[in-house]
Amino acid sequence: MSKTHAAPCGLSAAMADECRTLYIDYSVCIGCETCEAVCRFVYERPRIQMTCTIEGIAAPLYCRHCDNPKCANACPRGALTKDAQGAVILQQMLCRGCETRNCVVACPYSAMLLTGTGVAVTKCDMCITRRAVGLGPACAETCPAGAILYVERGRLAEIITPEAAEAEARVLAHVRPPLRGKPSKDE
Ligand code: SF4
Repeated sequence: MSKTHAAPCGLSAAMADECRTLYIDYSVCIGCETCEAVCRFVYERPRIQMTCTIEGIAAPLYCRHCDNPKCANACPRGALTKDAQGAVILQQMLCRGCETRNCVVACPYSAMLLTGTGVAVTKCDMCITRRAVGLGPACAETCPAGAILYVERGRLAEIITPEAAEAEARVLAHVRPPLRGKPSKDE
């Protein structure tokens, strides 16, 4: 099981490094959709969503649980917060489903998802209920290619290969065309 930290991420660089996140190596992903299917099985409305790039590459879009989450900064209700392990959590009771959909627009990774019913939006919480009983996120535990890692944020730099970075750039260019700018370093 992952370590539990007493303080939320973002308070210090050291703590932020120890907080965990999901990382998908798109150069290893085979586009099989297992991650989305497993997430749908667990939550009905999947929080990881397949897309297809202009080159025809299938790839899952997912929350990066940013250190300084743009979705949380954009929410006027304070409905998005970090938990002690670094996950950005949607507090459903605080979400008013405002028509501006600030959080959806703000996310550079298209990982705030409209539900079309009930609570207006949903997002990945790195399987908070599974983590509570010592399990990891379902997508990371079931990806047949081993493309999804549940890792300490501080290890990302050593994990990301040039092939993975290149593959990610292709997917992000599809999500956010270059004119909209690259995600900033503090994400
Ligand atoms: S389960 Fe793994 S290999 Fe399949 S689409 Fe998801 S990330 Fe890619």
